Amino acid sequence: MVGLSELAEGVHVYLQPPLICYSTAGVIVGERDVIVIDSLANAVMTEHLLAEIRRLTDKPVRFLINTHSHFDHVYTNHLFPEATVIASHRGREETKANRRAQTKHDTLFAELFPDVDLTGGRYTGQDASFSGSLSLHQGSREVRLIELGVGHSESDVAVHLPDEGIVFCGDIFLNGLPPLPLEGHVTQTIANIRSLETLDAEIYVAGHGDPGTLDDVRAQRIQLERQFQRARRCFEQGMSYDTALQALAGDDVPVAFQRPVVLASYCELAGRRPETADPVSRSHMTVLQGIAAEARLLLARDHVG
Ligand SMILES: [Zn+2]
Repeated sequence: MVGLSELAEGVHVYLQPPLICYSTAGVIVGERDVIVIDSLANAVMTEHLLAEIRRLTDKPVRFLINTHSHFDHVYTNHLFPEATVIASHRGREETKANRRAQTKHDTLFAELFPDVDLTGGRYTGQDASFSGSLSLHQGSREVRLIELGVGHSESDVAVHLPDEGIVFCGDIFLNGLPPLPLEGHVTQTIANIRSLETLDAEIYVAGHGDPGTLDDVRAQRIQLERQFQRARRCFEQGMSYDTALQALAGDDVPVAFQRPVVLASYCELAGRRPETADPVSRSHMTVLQGIAAEARLLLARDHVG
């Protein structure tokens, strides 16, 4: 399903297919203004989102929250010119660093995602940053930003609406994609998912894919723990990263989905990036390309089914 869907009065999710570059946005309409959670990967997607918001309300978008600095969550911040854009301190620093490397990223994305349109997207810095937590008050509604630290990204942020029992998870929770501990800290990613589980919420909005429940979030954490345990056994038996990946290839998880977890596990367990002959594992972006291709296959299969 694509488009806006209302989760509670005034609280909406903007859904796209569960693919790497197609993230989810939140739209929270208050008495005077609108809060948006995450911008999108290209201008067309964002124009569609903005048109959907205009169908709901003519109130201004006053705040735009970035859950983390990955391009598909920050790439159209500049298309919300009236909004104050907020990220964690670490997220803002990372966005600034990515912005300085924009040309390099442009080349990389063109190579790795040739069929993905990133037109009109670019890294744009945030106006405000926080660490720990920050609450926005939209009338009587509290929108609580919670920084969980390194995990999926340099610093994962969840956005909790305690009264509505809704949490926007960013990419700490992915629905239709595997858990992605992209910074090489699996234990910390598991801890961040556990933190989501402790929030008082009934609806967990995934960073990609449809919203889920506490059970879905728990299932993703258990899957990640299981994969980490298996990778740890391989590591403790002295297997190289490449051998471990082969040993786990027969598992019920596709190899493109195993790769980021095994790689992150080995990074964590060895305290460094492992020696590897696996050309895919040399770059995060190439790992993502494999996941994107696998997710597209799964999605196509689902649609056929
Ligand atoms: Zn991400």
